[in-house]
Amino acid sequence: MEYRSWLRQMTLAGIDGDEVTVLLPTRFLRDWVKSHYGEKITLLWQQAHPAIRRVDIRVGKGRTADAPHGEDRTAGGLAESLAPSPAPPPAHAPALARTSTNAGLRVAEEMTAPLDQRFTFDSFVVGKPNEFAYACARRVAENPGCKEFNPLFLYGGVGLGKTHLMHAVGLELTRRGAAPATVAYMSAEKFMYRFIAAIRSQQTIEFKDHLRSVDVLMIDDLQFLIGKDNTQEEFFHTFNALVDAGKQIVVSADKSPSDLSGLEDRLRTRLGCGMVADLHATTFELRISILEAKATRAQADVPSRVLDFLAHKITTNVRELEGSLNRLIAHAHLFNRPVTLETAQEVLHDILKAHDRRVTIDEIQRRVAEHYNMRIGDMVSARRARAVARPRQVAMYLAKQLTSRSLPEIGKKFGNRDHTTVMHACSRVQELIAADSSFAEDVDLLKKMLES
Ligand code: ADP
Ligand code: MG
Repeated sequence: MEYRSWLRQMTLAGIDGDEVTVLLPTRFLRDWVKSHYGEKITLLWQQAHPAIRRVDIRVGKGRTADAPHGEDRTAGGLAESLAPSPAPPPAHAPALARTSTNAGLRVAEEMTAPLDQRFTFDSFVVGKPNEFAYACARRVAENPGCKEFNPLFLYGGVGLGKTHLMHAVGLELTRRGAAPATVAYMSAEKFMYRFIAAIRSQQTIEFKDHLRSVDVLMIDDLQFLIGKDNTQEEFFHTFNALVDAGKQIVVSADKSPSDLSGLEDRLRTRLGCGMVADLHATTFELRISILEAKATRAQADVPSRVLDFLAHKITTNVRELEGSLNRLIAHAHLFNRPVTLETAQEVLHDILKAHDRRVTIDEIQRRVAEHYNMRIGDMVSARRARAVARPRQVAMYLAKQLTSRSLPEIGKKFGNRDHTTVMHACSRVQELIAADSSFAEDVDLLKKMLES
């Protein structure tokens, strides 16, 4: 919450030639915003007014800027809300894209979203769950258009680094000398709006020409195109034209091509033709590495106990993990107090509460029964056949692991069984996990599904 109210205090002092000056009321705020959002603010200004070269952030008071829109409290969302308010562009800047009369040029210029300079390969922390996707992205950045990796299809849950990797590919390509105009990155949503706008303004030819002129096209969150048949069709043609010309395509989605039901079959088939890389849910180790890297980058002294605590509590989404850490650091700066476990619990109260949403035993029974294809009634029945007894044991084990219920309470929920039965189930499952890796994977998968 702090971020929003602080950023809201930012005001525009003026624009002078290629320099914008914005004001914040205190030195602390100035430093904080500058170090956390300086680059992003500059980038956003440049995006709105390409003539801008520098954004100067100073201490001072001015008229209040427009309140940021949206309720997104994540760092990314906030940064977005920092976009320069539609203040009138300086009168002496006729070269701005907005005032350009060349419609074709405008289509082309607006085609690509700017790359976030923070999302580099260097700042991406690699661990088991993402090493394959990372390696594929690197390969594409080093050798775009290579058949084996074309298209590169990245998929995985929210906040696991898909967008980060795509930006990293773009940044690396430009670092290696590719002209920025030849690398196009945009969300599928933006793709659709651009397409619709092009149709409306009768610029579809320019739109198509421009898309087909790039060397690398990256479309983020492709699942957005499900049900948007015309846009899908357009994307499909662009896709084919580019791949046939040996150009590189990178696509991300929340599911694998085969699971993206609702996408046209021929598109799904083609998407799966290159390299498909999955970003798995983070592990505790990866979360710790990410937190350590981010704390070091922010030059903040965060005790390892606190990092451990965060990595344990916030398990699904790296964006949230990062947001929580930032919040702690900002809080420590603001009150000039060290980060401790107590302050972490206090400051992150709301986030932690949301994550503490504990799975219920009913839910566990339902999921496990589904998974093993058995009747839910057999979770509480007296049947002892292996086919029902084993899944029941797994469910008991998961109930112990994922809820705060006691053994007797769990026993009661499983057809009034004794707490020693639950205890036995837990140790039996543990033995099997150690002995049988496919069983272990199964249980792990169930656990992940229940936790997400
Ligand atoms: P997605 O697009 O998969 O939803 P993002 O790429 O937007 O996720 O990642 C969310 C946030 O988490 C970003 O700020 C990103 O930098 C960060 N992040 C995700 N994975 C990593 C990682 N392995 N190392 C460093 N930062 C990461
Ligand atoms: Mg994303």
